[in-house]
Amino acid sequence: MTPQQRTRLAAALATAGALSMTLLGPATHAGADPVRPDCPRGLACDWVPAAHEQTGDPADKETYGNYDTSDRPRTNKIRFIVLHDTEEDFDTTLKIFQNPLRQASAHYVVRSSDGHVTQMVKNKDVAWQAGNWYVNSHSIGIEQEGVAVDGAKWYTPEMYRSTAKLVRHLAAEYGIPLDRQHIIGHDGVPPTTASGTRNMHWDPGPYWDWNRFMALLGRPTVPTAPARGELVTISPDFKKNKQAFRDCEKGVDLPVQGSSAVPLHTAPSADAPLFSDPGLRPDGSPGTNCAADWGSKISATQRAVVADRVPGWTAIWWYGQKAWLRTPAHTRTTTPTAGYVVRPKKGRAEVPVLGVAYPEKSEYPADFADQRVGAPLGYTIKAGQSYPGGGEAPTGYFHAPTIDASYPYVHTYFRGGERYVTVQIGHRIAFVKASDVDIVRAR
Ligand SMILES: [Zn+2]
Repeated sequence: MTPQQRTRLAAALATAGALSMTLLGPATHAGADPVRPDCPRGLACDWVPAAHEQTGDPADKETYGNYDTSDRPRTNKIRFIVLHDTEEDFDTTLKIFQNPLRQASAHYVVRSSDGHVTQMVKNKDVAWQAGNWYVNSHSIGIEQEGVAVDGAKWYTPEMYRSTAKLVRHLAAEYGIPLDRQHIIGHDGVPPTTASGTRNMHWDPGPYWDWNRFMALLGRPTVPTAPARGELVTISPDFKKNKQAFRDCEKGVDLPVQGSSAVPLHTAPSADAPLFSDPGLRPDGSPGTNCAADWGSKISATQRAVVADRVPGWTAIWWYGQKAWLRTPAHTRTTTPTAGYVVRPKKGRAEVPVLGVAYPEKSEYPADFADQRVGAPLGYTIKAGQSYPGGGEAPTGYFHAPTIDASYPYVHTYFRGGERYVTVQIGHRIAFVKASDVDIVRAR
């Protein structure tokens, strides 16, 4: 079959539905592939390659799926692990990633029933998973079989154990810190621009048990600082933290159930409006209890800096403002935590926050056209505020517009000299120039 014929067939099959996808992609040579998955010993794990094929005119090297080849970590450092849920069953997910027209992939997919792991993209390569090219090029993506609004039922003990074993293995291999600014959900990935905020995903959602998962990574939330310290880790008991969220796409209330998410209000009252991510609602309209509305929720195991306290309530710095969460005396919704925070350097009224850590324009070769630089998101860190953070975010842009390296500079990693650090500005992480902030131990 010529490439054109294959493309026409692929286009026809893509419209015919998921079943037809079995006819596409490299599944036909299962068993013949010598690639071994990168998994820890003792984990049930296999290799099913994601598609890496052109899907348009053969002369058009820019139309292809579903990932980019690279030479990580020799070029781009691998600094983040992004957890997702599939919104499809396991087998369908594998077929989607084998279909180059779907323009999506992940390094690993974890099955709900038994925790089986399938690797689909080599860790040296860049999977198309995070919705942020900077994060894609510096991360490994892991898909959990599940449907976020279905609640915790997909997220089985076998799945938690497998994903945790895999994350521990990858973190050790690539030197990734086991904290919530590097082990993030898709809901923790920043947009690359302010206008892109509304397109960001929110999986694995409020019913992924982050307390349990971080404990399986060997990082349980325990007090490491005196009570009433500046820095806290959000730590509600998953089963007791019963929340009423809504599936706003379908327009139905979800059953009240245990959750990782704690609602954030604009004042210390359950009647006060919910907080909203100003990037998501630039008109300043209040947040909602939609499961998808990440701006009104902080998640278990995320850290925050305390901005104020009144009996039964704690305010944290959140997207540049105070957001209030219920902290009744008899519960442990927050745990005092030792660690680093970032704040504007003395004399700075505010510092910009970015969703990428790209080089400066002047650092690219003059004859390179695609000189990608970061643009500030809508939030800033103002004098008097601080946010958890300070971990290294590598500075660099990976140029990969085509399937092969036939054009100049394709598959080049451009390093930048400016140092960036991560910051937990709200529900999602972001990046600030290290020269803009002081990184200090929380008081
Ligand atoms: Zn996702």
